[in-house]
Order: sequence, then structure tokens, then C-alpha cells
Amino acid sequence: QQAGLANLVGQNTLTKDGREIKLYANIELPSDVDKVRDVDADGIGLFRSEFLFLNRTHLPDENEQFEAYKSVAFALKGKPVTIRTLDIGADKSLSTDDYVVSPNPALGLRAVRYSLARPDMFLTQLRAILRASAYGQIKLLLPMISGVEQLRAALVLIEQAREQLREANIPFDTRMAIGVMVEIPSAVLVLSSLLPLIDFVSIGTNDLTQYTLAVDRADADVAHLYNETHPAVLELIARTIITARKAKKSVSVCGEMAGDTKLTRLLLGFGLREFSMQPAQILAVKSRVMNSSAKKMRKLADAVLECSEQAEIRACLKQINALNM
Ligand code: PEP
Ligand code: MG
Repeated sequence: QQAGLANLVGQNTLTKDGREIKLYANIELPSDVDKVRDVDADGIGLFRSEFLFLNRTHLPDENEQFEAYKSVAFALKGKPVTIRTLDIGADKSLSTDDYVVSPNPALGLRAVRYSLARPDMFLTQLRAILRASAYGQIKLLLPMISGVEQLRAALVLIEQAREQLREANIPFDTRMAIGVMVEIPSAVLVLSSLLPLIDFVSIGTNDLTQYTLAVDRADADVAHLYNETHPAVLELIARTIITARKAKKSVSVCGEMAGDTKLTRLLLGFGLREFSMQPAQILAVKSRVMNSSAKKMRKLADAVLECSEQAEIRACLKQINALNM
């Protein structure tokens, strides 16, 4: 089977009915790009930049970050590289911070909230990302956006970073795409007010599941309640894809669901055309896509959205996946 999958490297990812699907990779460190090249991903859909900051006594300065981002941009040779700004807090904390566990870390000063609370640190990262954008196709992704004021506040800082670079005559891509992670239910509900301000969205199904169901994704005692195919979660995912596509903004899924071959057909049926996952999953998902018709999936995905019980959803998915199409 492994040999069969290896044959897919270099082939276009087309559904049986000829839709082109983009399969991107999730990475944590620049050294992960080898795995991305091995499977010939269409680019990087999620670079979790916080891994450059973890487990060290001095945080990376602007130049160190710039070199790291630039090296990934070079390695990808013009393919998109989506860099997510620092997603620190919750389960990941900086060893340089005076670390006091907040009462509820997953609901605390995390991700973009953390960056907005430390504008100097955020500006340093934004300048590093912008500088790297002169050397490839960099896209910037903001994690944990919950509403429009917060998005605007982040955009103001991005503009400030651009201004600082202009003043210093440092080149950057003035048209670098900016997107948000949709991983809090509020972002789904107000998505139409976010979309005019951004170029793309990426659905973080790991956190979207956690926050929709109020189930800590890292707590073993409630792991049995963590369910990515809960009807409420599926409804939010489908709604995000439809709303974004209507507004002609690109939309991907970058949570674990994107790499789960049991869910590939369902996501195609929701209208998803861009998936981002661990590099090791790319060829298996590619094979699944190439064996599926996107158009035929549509009705079947609608039927899944009509289900209210978990057992029904499981049965429906089983049926969809068994179809020879
Ligand atoms: C997600 O929440 O689905 C996601 C991709 O981000 P992370 O897993 O890094 O929180
Ligand atoms: Mg997340």
C-alpha cells in the first residue's frame, strides 16, 4: 500500500469529477520542510510558529525569526507558506514568562490575545514575517480570533509593522495575504463581518471542537466527550465553508480532521477544496480525494447535517465511505 501511495507524489490532486483539491502541510519547525517536500505538498497551510519560542531561556529576536521564516519560504520555492502568529498559552507556555497557571488556561490569555497584550513582542514577529514575505509566498494567519474589534486591533499592528519596515527601507510583500483561524464558535457566527477585512480563513477543528462542546482537548477525563463529528461542530464547519466561499474567500481546514481519511469525503461534500494536515497524512488523503466525486458528495454531506444522533452520523459516514464512486 505504501508503494501505491508513493506513486501519487507529483500527481495533481483531482477528484473523480475533475475538481482540483489543494493539500497543504502543517509544520512546527523549519526542519520539517523535508517531510513536506517528500510528499510534494502544495505548500504549508499551517506553520505553528510558537514552536520556535518553546523550551528556551531567550526568545528568538527579529533576525532569528526572519531567518527561520525565510528558510521555509526558500525551501518551498514560491509555494504558499502560511505562518500562524504565536499561539502561546493554554497547553503551551513560554519558559521566559513568570508562569502562573491561569484559572482556566484554555479560556485565558492565549494566542492572539497574548500577542495583543504584548504588542512589542507581536510587532517583532510581524516584522520578521513581513521581511520573509520578500523571499517567497508568505501568508499570515491570526489564531483564536473571536470578533471584529480584535481582528481590527491585530490589523492595526500589522500596518504599524509595515510602516516601520517602510521607514527603514526594508522590502516586504505589500500584498501578503492575511487570514484568521476560525476555531471559536463566535468567529463562525460573526464570520461575515470578519471576511471583508481578510483574504482567507482556516478552520481549526481541534479548538473549534473544544470550544463548541466545552471539552478540554487535553483532559483525559473528558476525552470521551471530545467529538469532532458532533452535529453542532459539523454545522459550524459547514457554515464556515459556505459563508467563506460565498464571499469568494479561500477556506481550508487545518485541524486534525483534515488528515482523517474517514472524513475526507464529508469535507469535500461541505465544499472544502483546501486541506492542511501532518505531512504523513497527505498521500492517504490524496488517494481518498482521487477516489471521490465532489459533486456526488454534496447531497450525502447534506444528509449528515440532518442527523441529530451520533449513531446516525456514524452510520451515514460508514455508508458514504463504502460507496464506490
Ligand atoms: C486547531 O485548533 O485545530 C489548530 C489547527 O490549531 P492548534 O491545534 O495548534 O491549536
Ligand atoms: Mg487551535
